[in-house]
Amino acid sequence: MKKHYQYIIVGAGCAGLQLAKSLLQLSSNVVQSILLIDASATHEEKSWCFWYNKDHPYRHLVKKEWDAVQFITDNYATTQKIAPKSYQFINSLDFYNDCIAYFATDSRIEILHNTVLEIQPHQQPIVVTNTDTFTCDTVFFTNPKLGFKAYPKTTIWQQFLGWTIETEVPTFDDTVATMMDFSIDNTKFISFVYILPFSTTKALVECTIFSDCLAEPTYYEAILGDYIAKKFTINYRITSKEHGKIPMQLPPSENALPNNIIPIGTAAGCIKASTGYSFVRAMMHTKEIINAITNQQVVGNRQFKKRFLFYDALFLNIIQQAPNRMKYIFYKLFKYNTLRTVLQFLDEQTTLWQDALIFLHLPKMPFLNALFRTHKQPNND
Ligand SMILES: Cc1cc2nc3c(=O)[nH]c(=O)nc-3n(C[C@H](O)[C@H](O)[C@H](O)COP(=O)(O)OP(=O)(O)OC[C@H]3O[C@@H](n4cnc5c(N)ncnc54)[C@H](O)[C@@H]3O)c2cc1C
Repeated sequence: MKKHYQYIIVGAGCAGLQLAKSLLQLSSNVVQSILLIDASATHEEKSWCFWYNKDHPYRHLVKKEWDAVQFITDNYATTQKIAPKSYQFINSLDFYNDCIAYFATDSRIEILHNTVLEIQPHQQPIVVTNTDTFTCDTVFFTNPKLGFKAYPKTTIWQQFLGWTIETEVPTFDDTVATMMDFSIDNTKFISFVYILPFSTTKALVECTIFSDCLAEPTYYEAILGDYIAKKFTINYRITSKEHGKIPMQLPPSENALPNNIIPIGTAAGCIKASTGYSFVRAMMHTKEIINAITNQQVVGNRQFKKRFLFYDALFLNIIQQAPNRMKYIFYKLFKYNTLRTVLQFLDEQTTLWQDALIFLHLPKMPFLNALFRTHKQPNND
C-alpha cells in the first residue's frame, strides 16, 4: 500500500462512491491514484429514491420507476405525471456492489477499511487513520466532523420506519408512488406515510417524521399497522424493514478549508435540509468536481443559491416552532401548484417569480413568524 495518493476519498457512501467511479472514468493521464477509505467493510442497505429524467449514469440500477406521483392529505388527493422526469428507485446495496465491481477492474483505486481520525491541512493534506497516515494531493470527505471544527449539532431529524409488505392478492397500484400521505394523525409529530409499490402485491410503506426529538419505534409501528389495515388489508406479511434518520440542517455557513480539502455529500450540504433527499444533489456535485478537474480548474466548494438556503431555514424554523402548521402548509403547497412545479422548486430550479407565486398560496403567518425568528439570512461561503 502506498503512502501518497493523488486523491483520497473518505467515505464509501452515496457521494464517495459516485465521485470515485466518476474519477476512474477519466483517463489515467488525469487520474493516477485514489485511496477510498471507509470505516465500515459492509454497506447498510437503503431504499434510495429521487425524481430525475431518464438519462443519468445510474439508469442501469433503477429497479422500479413511477411516471406518476401522488400527494394525499385529509379531504384532498392529487396524482400527477411528472414527465419528462420519473420517480426512480435504486437499492443502495446494488449501487454499492456495482461500484465495488467497477473498482475491481481498475488498479488505480485501492480501498481501505479504517476510521479516519483527522485530516490535517498541508500543502499535501495528511489523512490520519486508526493505524496509518497517508498524504495526498487532494482529499474529499463526507463526514462533516472531519472538516469543520464547529459543525452545528443536528437539531431536526427526518426519521422513518418502513415495512416492505407482501400480499396474497393484488392490492397496490404499482404505477403511482405516494410521496406523502398526510392523512394520518399529526398531533404528536409532523408525520406522513410514503409508499413505493414495487408490484401489485409488494410495496414499501414507510412512516416518516420530521422532529427535533426522536420517536420511539412503537410509535411508527402503531401508525404503520393502523394505516395498512385501514387503507389496504390486514392480510399481509412484512418481508423486510428499513429504519433510519437523516439530518435536516443547512450546510455550514463558514468554510475556511483549503482548496485541497473538499467536502462532498453530507459535508457539502448535499442533503437538502427541507427534504432529506441527496442522491441527485451528490450526482450534480460530482459532475461539478469532474468538470473542474477535466478543465484543470480549482475544485471549488459547492455553491448554493442563497434564496433557497433562506427558504430552507424558514422551513426548518417552522418545523421546530410551529409543527402543527406543517400539514396545512403541505396541503397548500400541493393544492395550488402542480407536482412538476413543486419538484422544480425542491430542485432549486424555479425562478424568483415562480417562488413568489408558490409563497402567495402558503399561509402567511408561519412564514412571517419564522422570518422574524430567523434573524440572520443564512449565507454561503
Ligand atoms: C434508510 C434511509 C433511506 C434513505 N432514502 C433516501 C432516498 O430515498 N433518497 C435520497 O436521496 N436519500 C435517501 N437517504 C439519505 C442518503 O442515504 C444520504 O443522504 C446519503 O447516503 C448521504 O451520502 P454521504 O455519502 O454523505 O454519506 P453516507 O452515504 O452515509 O456515507 C458515508 C460513509 O462514510 C463512512 N465514514 C463516516 N465517517 C468516517 C470516518 N471518520 N472514517 C472513515 N469512514 C467514515 C461511513 O461508514 C459511510 O460509509 C436515505 C437514508 C437512509 C438512512
